[in-house]
Amino acid sequence: MDLLEYQGKQLFARHGVPVPSGKPAHTVEEAVAAADEIGYPCVVKAQVQIGGRGKAGGIKLASDRQEAEANAKAILGMDIRGLTVYELWLERASEIAAEYYASIVFDRGAKAPLVMLSTKGGMDIEEVAASDPDAIARLYVDPLLGLQEFQARRLAFEAGVAADVVRPVAAMLMRLYAAFVEEEATLVEVNPLIVTPGGEGGSGAREVRALDAKVTLDDNSLFRHPDNAVLRDPSAEDPQEQMAKERGVMYVKLGGDVGILANGAGLAMSTVDVVAEAGGRPANFLDVGGGAKAEVITSAVEVILSDANVKAVLFNIFGGITRCDEVAKGLIEAFEQIKPTVPFVVRLDGTNGEQGRALLAQASLANVHTESTMDGAAARVVELAAASTTTSAQR
Ligand code: GDP
Ligand code: MN
Repeated sequence: MDLLEYQGKQLFARHGVPVPSGKPAHTVEEAVAAADEIGYPCVVKAQVQIGGRGKAGGIKLASDRQEAEANAKAILGMDIRGLTVYELWLERASEIAAEYYASIVFDRGAKAPLVMLSTKGGMDIEEVAASDPDAIARLYVDPLLGLQEFQARRLAFEAGVAADVVRPVAAMLMRLYAAFVEEEATLVEVNPLIVTPGGEGGSGAREVRALDAKVTLDDNSLFRHPDNAVLRDPSAEDPQEQMAKERGVMYVKLGGDVGILANGAGLAMSTVDVVAEAGGRPANFLDVGGGAKAEVITSAVEVILSDANVKAVLFNIFGGITRCDEVAKGLIEAFEQIKPTVPFVVRLDGTNGEQGRALLAQASLANVHTESTMDGAAARVVELAAASTTTSAQR
């Protein structure tokens, strides 16, 4: 689950990461009231799940109430790379002496969290990584030992952080790491992490602050974090994935045109692989689980067919606990209810396979092709998807 910037900042604040204080707003009136309370100059920021808001005009400074109102009017309802802005975040404007970049991601390949720090912040970090990879200092953290203060300080030196802010930057990394671990995040990104010019508040010392926040939480851990779970916004999720979640079906959308349904995560993954190998593009990964009964099959078929890109479906079942006759009944029921127009290729094997195939033959469903091997089924479904693409293109 991705958090909006202000939700990420509120999470940071709970872990002692310095952030500007601010208020959310949903209307122009709320925005003006928030700006008055915060004081001027303030910043009006579009809250959408996408970066590059600044470049798109979704972040504007306001030096008085008139400007706050005009900015709120301009930004609410704005389209930022396909996303409409329904929410604003207003905060006290910060003075910026330098813009750094900091992030922590879970690197699955290395089986460890990776901390990255750069003094080239504020811009597209992918661009920095491509043009000047040495400008990003990296550190893999031993997950059992955690991030040590001396490592954080060394990373700051390696990145070329200004000497007077090495300690506060290192302290911020420690707190970001604590937030990353305790909230079970898979990504925490601060771009820009700013250095103030100093002299603010009379102390004269330069400070650091997280001016932006990007946080991704592990969906599978949300049950342990009720405070975070309530932040879930179903309207921001993919409609098919949402539908699958409601029905308790394990579904991941992949973007191709060959729908895939299998029992067991291992078989579903292998099915995705054989379809790709046969030259097809899988539309999804769907595991109906062991012992799938008729209703579950109907439900899963509905989820797959709700994706308009699906041109053909591969139904791959190997019966162990799952009985193929039950699956065949489910498929027949699903066809009676849904009457799909896209072709289905079915491979049924294992427990009660013979009975299952006999039931299907008896029902002689239109649009259903049976195959006895996985490779044969994959080749067939790819062929059917391609044929349906050409016919729809001819129409
Ligand atoms: P993004 O474009 O979606 O990454 O949004 P950010 O929150 O990172 O803001 C983009 C840029 O706007 C920052 O890199 C800053 O240069 C600028 N900006 C944001 N907030 C402030 C602020 O309080 N003061 C000043 N001077 N600039 C800001
Ligand atoms: Mn940013």
